[in-house]
Amino acid sequence: MSTQSFAELGLDASVLAAVSAVGYETPSPIQAQAIPILLKGENLLGVAQTGTGKTAAFALPLLSRIDASSNDTQILVLTPTRELAIQVAEAFNTYANHFKNFNVLPIYGGQDFYPQLKALKRGAQVIVGTPGRTLDHLRRGTLKLNNLKAMILDEADEMLRMGFIDDVETIIAETPADCQRALFSATMPAPIRKVAQKYLSNAQEVKIESATRTVERIEQFVLPVYAERKLDALTRILEVEPFDAAIIFVRTKAETVALAEKMAARGHAVSPLNGDINQRQREQTVEDLKRGKKDIIIATDVAARGLDVPRITHVINYDVPYDTEAYIHRVGRTGRAGRTGKAILLVTPRERSWLKTLERATNSPMKDYQLPSPVALQKMREEQFESQLLGFTEDRRLGKAIALLDDIAQRNEMDMAMVAGALAAWMETAQPGALPLEQPAALPVPVPGARRSRDRHHRPGGERRGHRPGFKKGGASRGKPPARGGKRPPRQSDAKR
Ligand code: ADP
Ligand code: MG
Repeated sequence: MSTQSFAELGLDASVLAAVSAVGYETPSPIQAQAIPILLKGENLLGVAQTGTGKTAAFALPLLSRIDASSNDTQILVLTPTRELAIQVAEAFNTYANHFKNFNVLPIYGGQDFYPQLKALKRGAQVIVGTPGRTLDHLRRGTLKLNNLKAMILDEADEMLRMGFIDDVETIIAETPADCQRALFSATMPAPIRKVAQKYLSNAQEVKIESATRTVERIEQFVLPVYAERKLDALTRILEVEPFDAAIIFVRTKAETVALAEKMAARGHAVSPLNGDINQRQREQTVEDLKRGKKDIIIATDVAARGLDVPRITHVINYDVPYDTEAYIHRVGRTGRAGRTGKAILLVTPRERSWLKTLERATNSPMKDYQLPSPVALQKMREEQFESQLLGFTEDRRLGKAIALLDDIAQRNEMDMAMVAGALAAWMETAQPGALPLEQPAALPVPVPGARRSRDRHHRPGGERRGHRPGFKKGGASRGKPPARGGKRPPRQSDAKR
């Protein structure tokens, strides 16, 4: 973090007041560098990883220059996804909290035109839109940019990746020639650089190096696991990790749904998040996660892009990402707003080359993730069962229940231990798994020494591999149990939650 203060940057007083109300102490490096440039009205090319505070880097200076007495659209921000449009619009609202007259409007596809039209007619000083819908409104004449003072391309590389670059260029061409322009991107591929050269004349370039920034506050773990054991591994991780909210990344949309169903069956408050789910539902899901109505989201990369929910303490890479960029974005979903986070990557023997690649990309080593041993897991489950049981000792129905059972015990000449045992067996019959009766089996984990025989055993006719370094030591049966959390155990007895 920079040693500079926000006050030294020359921001408008009411913007400064809002920033201190949100609780930011110092500007992040990209903010410290970008804010003075944008305040001067200059064009800017900003290259910085996800989670470095780019939104405030452009929102704060642009808000400082806005003419609050006019309802004309003065700032246009283009973002690749609807979620991001909403998030950036929310950020503008927060930072403009002390303005008397301020309107920001997110516009994106999948939402009815009519309410957008009404809102556009009323006038919004800031529009945050996805390229497609923004272009629609421009073509219909429902969005006017003739008084635009500044435009921002946020996550430009992602807009390129999603095929929006032509739309983006068309929109830029519609903005006034003297309009201030800034482009933010985590990477600078050639087509983005070309757009910058063409439309951002004399742009100042600000580059925040170090991919490590993103993962600084995030502890990264790796758990080697056989492909067919991933679900078991995930179940145990969620059982022992003291998470607040978790996001689990998978590769396909179908898998988000399938895995969410399995996790729900294990008693978790979980939702899938993918690009096929309708917009309202997706917004609802993010809202539910923010408010704690849901604790787990199973997501694809695209759907979770830019997701900013400070409650997320854990990122679990159930499937390995497609590239290192995706990995950095994924783990960046935790450790938000200065908190710490934990990222756990499941790697099958075939995917172990990812380890080195990711460690290089993030410039930080991954630790071995230790699943608890069956003995430790069993002990934990017994303790949890006990504490749940003790939770009922002051239940208001206790008096009547004891009277009833006492009567039964006396008439049948049983002691109360026998009655309690019978009740417990009944509970277990009604809800298998409600009682920790069986010690769980050890989860077979690929370890270097045992690799060959394990492979043969678990992947009949599977891949042939020699011993290659890459998988580090570690394994279910030798691990120490991680610290226990306050989370209730995801057991079937909890399924009604
Ligand atoms: P990026 O767009 O670079 O991925 P964001 O703008 O989404 O990053 O910011 C990431 C998180 O950091 C947000 O939760 C934001 O509120 C928080 N944040 C931004 N600037 C600061 C700051 N100066 N101090 C503390 N937290 C900040
Ligand atoms: Mg951003």
